[in-house]
Amino acid sequence: MTLPPEAFWALSAFVFLAGLCIGSFLNVCIWRIPRDESIVWPGSHCPACGHPIAPWDNLPLLSWLILNGRCRHCRAPISPRYFLVELLTGALFTALWLVHGVSVLTPVYLLFAAALVMATFIDLDHLILPDRVTLGGMILGPVLSFALPALQGQTDRLPALAHSLLGLALGYGLLWLVATLGRLILKRDAMGMGDWKLLGAIGACLGAQAVLFTIFVSSLTGTLLGLALIAARRKALQSKIPYGPHLALAAVLWMLCGPACIAAYLEWAMPLPPATLFWTGGFP
Ligand SMILES: [Zn+2]
Repeated sequence: MTLPPEAFWALSAFVFLAGLCIGSFLNVCIWRIPRDESIVWPGSHCPACGHPIAPWDNLPLLSWLILNGRCRHCRAPISPRYFLVELLTGALFTALWLVHGVSVLTPVYLLFAAALVMATFIDLDHLILPDRVTLGGMILGPVLSFALPALQGQTDRLPALAHSLLGLALGYGLLWLVATLGRLILKRDAMGMGDWKLLGAIGACLGAQAVLFTIFVSSLTGTLLGLALIAARRKALQSKIPYGPHLALAAVLWMLCGPACIAAYLEWAMPLPPATLFWTGGFP
């Protein structure tokens, strides 16, 4: 479906602004969910002085810039991460909208992206992945796949549900296997239970191909970061690096360009159609 240019630009701006507002809400979730606080009550307040934050001091991006990254009342610094999470969510929403356009799947992908941003920053802060994202995704994935078979690239509901359950089992099972082998060989926990629940959720929502893509990309980025940190002497070989952000980054990349990457890779790895590899009919 093609939109007239004015409608396209208006919708793009709306998606970006919606992403900023959702990012602002994600900041609240990232702070409160690991602390078992309600995400709706009380309203936003400064973590340093407890003063409630007025709506006009709570505008995404702008307020942080206007207040110069400080609380209006006690002047305590506000982490630039609030700004970053808002901008990141706005940018991801816009990118997903530009790739998927007007489709029933676009709002679903935006929801997944928001959940992955939240999981990433909670994992960075606390080395945990919240059940609301991981178990939530494992339950929501099959339900959404049944309701919207296109999510699994299907036209019928039952095959879509089967794809979702296969993705869930593969994601959960593969990382469970990696973690179990890691514990036997390395005698320590290489991976938390949250990691395999998150990959189960990614599989349930995006399918088995997405699980394989996510394992490949996340092990690549995880290894590169680990080597870089060791080279910079920031981390010892034994220290714990959260793996959730790598899984989340890979899943977002899958939503943006995963199938295109696989098609390009297959074309590069197998430039000839399989039948011609066995061509024996004399010289061409
Ligand atoms: Zn304050």
